[in-house]
Amino acid sequence: MDALAAEVKTCGKCELGRLRRNPVPGEGSLNAAVMFIGEAPGYWEDLKGRPFVGAAGKLLDEMLSKAGLSRSEVYIANILKCRPPENRDPLPMEVKTCTPYLDRQIEIIEPKFIVALGRHSASYILAKAGFEVGGITELRGKVYEAELLGFRVFVIPTYHPAAALYNVRYRDQLENDFRLLRLELERRR
Ligand code: URA
Repeated sequence: MDALAAEVKTCGKCELGRLRRNPVPGEGSLNAAVMFIGEAPGYWEDLKGRPFVGAAGKLLDEMLSKAGLSRSEVYIANILKCRPPENRDPLPMEVKTCTPYLDRQIEIIEPKFIVALGRHSASYILAKAGFEVGGITELRGKVYEAELLGFRVFVIPTYHPAAALYNVRYRDQLENDFRLLRLELERRR
């Protein structure tokens, strides 16, 4: 993982590497049973080089506690490792270029559960596992048993915490999905 982080640091595969302040490879336990995958670094993540440290990160921390988890026992990564200008959506080319890093992280950690935060993350992971991908509202609230990169993993797609910050309905459903994660973790211990 250290070697991967070093590669990300000097990555020049797309122009985002030139535009960002700091790369955000990801962080957490290499023995994590649960891996969270977000979209891309935002303002604070770019500044600090760490995932989910802004307002969305605060909500993620709250949700983690609903699932009975702490940051130190999970792994948190993103689809893109560098911040897109003005936090715009990742371009398909950027996703294609950057996700080999994420795939390697998933292979290193081999998590039991992947929680895909938001539509970009959910569609990347579920499409890779061969599922038909729709909107996040249709996908969320369920557990997908998947074969991914040669091992079995349970995928739980949910809303992106940033989307839930200002939408009470999304926030309630995000909370439900983290409770579902808690139940699944207890059930499949
Ligand atoms: N949003 C993301 O998708 N990832 C982060 O790391 C922070 C905000």
